[in-house]
Amino acid sequence: MSWPTAESVSRTAGDGRRDTNAAAVLTAVLDHGPIARSGIARLSGLSPAAVSRQYLGLARRGLVRERPDLAVSGGVGRPQVPVDIDTEGPLVGGIHIGVAYSTFCLLDLRGGVVARAQAHHTGLTSAAALGPALRRLPAFLAERAAGRPVLGLGAVIGGWVDPVEGTVVRHVPLDMHQLPLRALLSRALGLPVHVDNHARAIAQFEILFGRPAARRSVVHLFIGNVVDAAVGIAGVVHHGPRSAAGDIAHLPVATRGERCSCGRVGCLQAVASDAALAERAVAAGVIPEPEATLLVDAAAAGDRRADRLLRDRARLVGRAAALLTDVLNPDVVLVTELSSILNPEYREVMGAELAERSHICDDPARLAGPHAGPAVLPVAGGTPALSWLYRSPLQVPTTTIRTDEPSVLDAC
Ligand SMILES: [Zn+2]
Repeated sequence: MSWPTAESVSRTAGDGRRDTNAAAVLTAVLDHGPIARSGIARLSGLSPAAVSRQYLGLARRGLVRERPDLAVSGGVGRPQVPVDIDTEGPLVGGIHIGVAYSTFCLLDLRGGVVARAQAHHTGLTSAAALGPALRRLPAFLAERAAGRPVLGLGAVIGGWVDPVEGTVVRHVPLDMHQLPLRALLSRALGLPVHVDNHARAIAQFEILFGRPAARRSVVHLFIGNVVDAAVGIAGVVHHGPRSAAGDIAHLPVATRGERCSCGRVGCLQAVASDAALAERAVAAGVIPEPEATLLVDAAAAGDRRADRLLRDRARLVGRAAALLTDVLNPDVVLVTELSSILNPEYREVMGAELAERSHICDDPARLAGPHAGPAVLPVAGGTPALSWLYRSPLQVPTTTIRTDEPSVLDAC
């Protein structure tokens, strides 16, 4: 996601300039709404007339609306009617495809979860793993959107994902290789589909809606059944050639432990993934089935062995975070990991290990959890669609003509 400024606006021309101006206005409203048009002009560097023109285009697409209930009279002339992102208008859909189940959702335009559901696909691989979710998604989107337009669907998964080609290049646990995810989903749903890796999507959500510091720079570690990372600098999430960035599976974080599929010992994936942790817990007799949520539940219920296993894992994650912090010195180190989302004590263990191990950062609080909290998976699913919308708002079809248009010429 690039963040348009007056400077970048002046460098573009024609349709590109229109798109950039519309994105600049939408971004100003996202960051500061409800806000008067005069404020948008100041923030975006556009003239008041240009702001009103762009507002009209965005309102026609249902992305922004006036808030007459918040109008303040300045004493002279008409009161200024502030405008805001329309969180009661269009929605986007999203799906996060995990190893055992998919989470799908509807999000409003500020990333709020309007509805969510799950479909289990344990034992299914490749395209078949999409089956249970695809059987439920059309009815879910139609019923839960309750008449609001659904502008598109975001789809995220771990592993190597190429958003340009719309494919899952490689996801080992689900045996996906060159799977045309975008084509499969858009054919089944009849919607524009935007795919990405889930770690990149969560970093992008943080840049759009989370801590302001994340827009300067953010490193994100996703610790689930797969482990992934994402890097965002100056508001742009890095993809690199063929979008292969973010593979931290073989980051060395231990000198002993389970042997990795690569043949070495101590790789992050082999010692700290949910799957590795759950197997260790089963072997120690702490939980009956290799399911990480059972371990988190056991720790929450007071099982000290479960708590110890989770703290050990948190230290390994903190070590990985320290390695990446030393390379990139990010403003925010974001970690998505189940136990720390539910109990901040595990995040404190990660932060302490980061501060202990890093050679440049002694602040444990630089390590944070995702802004979306326990809603991180559904929110990640919808984020590629929201990212597209905020980057190119004029590509949204003019499905909803709003009734507040005439007054757009009033203000400024
Ligand atoms: Zn390895």
